[in-house]
Amino acid sequence: VLRTHIPVTTQDEYGKVTEALNRMAQQLHRAEETRKQLTADVVHELRTPLAIIQSQLENIQNGGRQIYPEVLLPIQDEVIRLTRLIEDLHQLTLAESRTLPLARRPTDLVTLIDQMIDRLNPLAVEQQVALVRTTAQQTWTVNVDPHRMAQVFYNLLSNALRYTPSGGSITIGIAHGEQAQSDCAVVSIADTGMGIPPEKLPYVFDRFYRVEEARSRHNGGMGLGLAIAKEFVEANEGSISVQSTVGRGTTFNVSLPLT
Ligand code: ADP
Repeated sequence: VLRTHIPVTTQDEYGKVTEALNRMAQQLHRAEETRKQLTADVVHELRTPLAIIQSQLENIQNGGRQIYPEVLLPIQDEVIRLTRLIEDLHQLTLAESRTLPLARRPTDLVTLIDQMIDRLNPLAVEQQVALVRTTAQQTWTVNVDPHRMAQVFYNLLSNALRYTPSGGSITIGIAHGEQAQSDCAVVSIADTGMGIPPEKLPYVFDRFYRVEEARSRHNGGMGLGLAIAKEFVEANEGSISVQSTVGRGTTFNVSLPLT
């Protein structure tokens, strides 16, 4: 329907209006393609956990009335995945609808980051990955929604943990930077993990994108964490970027304008 292209024959007003209409049709077409892709991705992500739950339930039924923990565990795992998927999709929809309720207020980045480190430290200890903040104890005040930004740092740190083998480290630093000619704070989260191949790097912020389907799925990722992080950072007028070297590690930089 939207693939219509009206031939532009004149350079006058009529020609300009026609061109504008063509552009609009093209944009609508792209939006429609994105929507279709999202639906297809959601269907795909829902199907696998449901199939696993279904087959486990059949096992239980066929095996009589006794229910062993071994058969319940995979069901529980998949239910956790589904719950997380729904929660991630909800966050993403909120962020993309541009009606994301943002409660921006002066927030100290160091306090926020330390809270996230405290939350993830037990997991880091368990995985034998060092979680270190290198910034001196000073305040970095930015005007952001602390809950949304906490989610961003949580996503980045839990990814770093997920993709860094034991013995590795994750270093969190804050430095001065510049963005659109104004002062900003740049939070860097650098891990010594497996890294991301250069040809895959441009896609990591895409919805449902996983560098390695099987490995990520095993690790519990849905490919939404970075898409959510990007939306939230941009909603707070910041920007996010990534650098990576395979086998050496990955660094995410989040820039936020200083107040
Ligand atoms: P997921 O929930 O699968 O982790 P994300 O959107 O958070 O999804 O990340 C997308 C993909 O980017 C991941 O599947 C992973 O392959 C890659 N990735 C993200 N962070 C890192 C990292 N710190 N090191 C290596 N790969 C990463």
